[in-house]
Amino acid sequence: MITTETISRITRFNGGEVPVVSLYAKAGQDGPAALRTQVNSLLHEIRPLTEDASLGRPARLSVRGDIQRIEGLEGLERMGPGAVAIFSCSEGDFFEQVNLPRGVRDRVVVGATPWVRPMLAVLNEYHPACVLVVDRRSAQAWELYQDEMREIREFRDPALRKPNYAGWYGLMEHRVRNRADDLTKRHFRNVVRVLDELFRAGGHELLIVGGHPEEVPNFLEFLPYDLRPKVAGTFTIDAWTATPTDIRHSAERIVEQYERDEERRRVAEVMEAAAMRRPVALGLDECLWAGSVAAVRTLLVQEGATAPGVVCDESGWLATSGDTCPLCGRATRRTPDVIDDLAQAVIDESGAVEHVLADTQLKAHNVAAALRFPLPRRAPQDTLT
Ligand SMILES: [Zn+2]
Repeated sequence: MITTETISRITRFNGGEVPVVSLYAKAGQDGPAALRTQVNSLLHEIRPLTEDASLGRPARLSVRGDIQRIEGLEGLERMGPGAVAIFSCSEGDFFEQVNLPRGVRDRVVVGATPWVRPMLAVLNEYHPACVLVVDRRSAQAWELYQDEMREIREFRDPALRKPNYAGWYGLMEHRVRNRADDLTKRHFRNVVRVLDELFRAGGHELLIVGGHPEEVPNFLEFLPYDLRPKVAGTFTIDAWTATPTDIRHSAERIVEQYERDEERRRVAEVMEAAAMRRPVALGLDECLWAGSVAAVRTLLVQEGATAPGVVCDESGWLATSGDTCPLCGRATRRTPDVIDDLAQAVIDESGAVEHVLADTQLKAHNVAAALRFPLPRRAPQDTLT
């Protein structure tokens, strides 16, 4: 499973003297055994490095160790759809495997630091959330990332003595109640302090709070200013009887709602930009041209949309048809889904990709993009065909 800790460990790693091997392979294209074959052929590309005298001995040894470890990796056959990302630096005692929910282009890169952009571009669509279930005396924090949830912190304040006996004297009761309120406040402050630390450590984008409907608003009052905008929603649950499954279901509904809202906002932004005559591309043809000239800042793809097309691997030209690339004159490669090639090209040029599940105006276009600059006129060969 993917956790925010793993991701930050990967993005912070630096091999120093020894290089890091970063390998991406897309799963589920041609059956389960195919992924193993793809991984092995990618490893083949870097094998010459183990004999490369221009590299220091530790670097060569490290790459050799990386290749062996990745070759011996088990479970690739069982991978679902998506892709696997592997980062390895054997001499630096570093190895991470991340199973990505969407495909990325097959590639192997050797460098001083892990090559994380394709991984981050895919994960960008998923919002790791901190799910807090809180009542007056206890709190439990979970991390929800994609479809998985794990507990990250639990705290219970020392239990209060039951204040029933205080009913004998009105004044006494008042004091005990105040004392209870003070303890609750102290508990809320403690919880907020731990939350603050969790968010400062990085990784969590959203905060979701569950609990008693009368207590949750009180708790929210204790949140510091910078955590408030992160609250994606709240839900009602009994902290003592709730199972992790109950908590996960409630939190997932909130994350889903958040993601659909975000998609609608992104689509609305592009449509508004179009109305204001700012640079955008609407529909496959325009988006492919925009991708060909690296103009795409954010690409929006209707979930499930596919279209056959052609790609020039030399110049990066993308189109729905054409045997010859108008930019460089070489023969194009046919692809069953040029939208996927477009998405990969956008990621390579540091753009963002958002798949849209929500029902929006994007359905009329299937793909749309916010652009970095107005599109140049197309090459004449292209406009003629
Ligand atoms: Zn070309």
